[in-house]
Amino acid sequence: MRAMVLDAPGHPLVMRGRPLPAPDANAILVAVAACGVCRTDLHVVDGELPHPKLPIVPGHEIVGRVAGIGANVFGFSIGQRVGVPWLGHTCGVCPYCRSGRENLCDAPLFTGYTRDGGYASHAVADAAFCFPLPEGGDDAETAPLLCAGLIGWRSYRIAGEGAALGLYGFGAAAHIIAQVAAWQGRRVHAFTRAGDAEAQGFARSLGAVWAGGSDATPPEPLDAAIIFAPVGALVPAALKTVKKGGRVVCAGIHMSDIPRFPYSLLWEERQVVSVANLTRQDAHEFFAIAPQAGIKTTVVRYPLDRANDALSDLRSGRLQGAAVLIP
Ligand SMILES: [Zn+2]
Ligand SMILES: [Zn+2]
Repeated sequence: MRAMVLDAPGHPLVMRGRPLPAPDANAILVAVAACGVCRTDLHVVDGELPHPKLPIVPGHEIVGRVAGIGANVFGFSIGQRVGVPWLGHTCGVCPYCRSGRENLCDAPLFTGYTRDGGYASHAVADAAFCFPLPEGGDDAETAPLLCAGLIGWRSYRIAGEGAALGLYGFGAAAHIIAQVAAWQGRRVHAFTRAGDAEAQGFARSLGAVWAGGSDATPPEPLDAAIIFAPVGALVPAALKTVKKGGRVVCAGIHMSDIPRFPYSLLWEERQVVSVANLTRQDAHEFFAIAPQAGIKTTVVRYPLDRANDALSDLRSGRLQGAAVLIP
């Protein structure tokens, strides 16, 4: 098999040949058809997340076909189309796992961070955390649903049911959630880097009723805002746009420091919350709703050996939609 490997944070990924692994008893081997490039991969590669397994194969938005099945695995067949997400394993016994909050598990494994992921021709995944996918969809266009879609969905649910929603950072996750929100009749306000007319036009094309710079005032006070960009200064900016009782949801795994701000921005029962990881229940809900909402992802395809280019295009904001690696 071939894999793009990170030996140490801050270094470019290198292509390596490896022997094809055999799945252990509870795992499946997946022949990767497409793997999305998520901002979290950038945080792993740039050393902004602590204690990755090293060397590590990044990538946690995997769409592929079952190519091997462990002895204790039932319910999957060779050749079946599957998805592998960020949540790679949970302990099943900690207080979080036992209370329906496996996203907060005390002893988790994460695909492409603490176990090898999908920047490769093949990946081994814990079968209990893989999702059967229907036949027929385009593999590359499906891949971003596995994280941008799932984490976006969890963030969207936690944002509440208000009609006026702000999305800060119009990348892979926002471009999916904007479509869900518009389909549900909500008014999406998209905040991009100031002056990024292209991203603002992209947001309007996906149903946003308004798009502007992250320093702009939207035409109406918002019920909630979701921050997808890893920029702490957006927290007070978003608090200024939400109405009394409004909620600001931080959807990323890493963010620059939040600058100090006056308490008056938080007063009147405004809330700031973060979203961590996903549960398998989130995935079941989202995969049920995605076809109904008619979500169309916009992807930019890169061959696997150009993973470093995909990461640097994401880092510099040169991408519209989501980058996807094709092995
Ligand atoms: Zn647990
Ligand atoms: Zn991700």
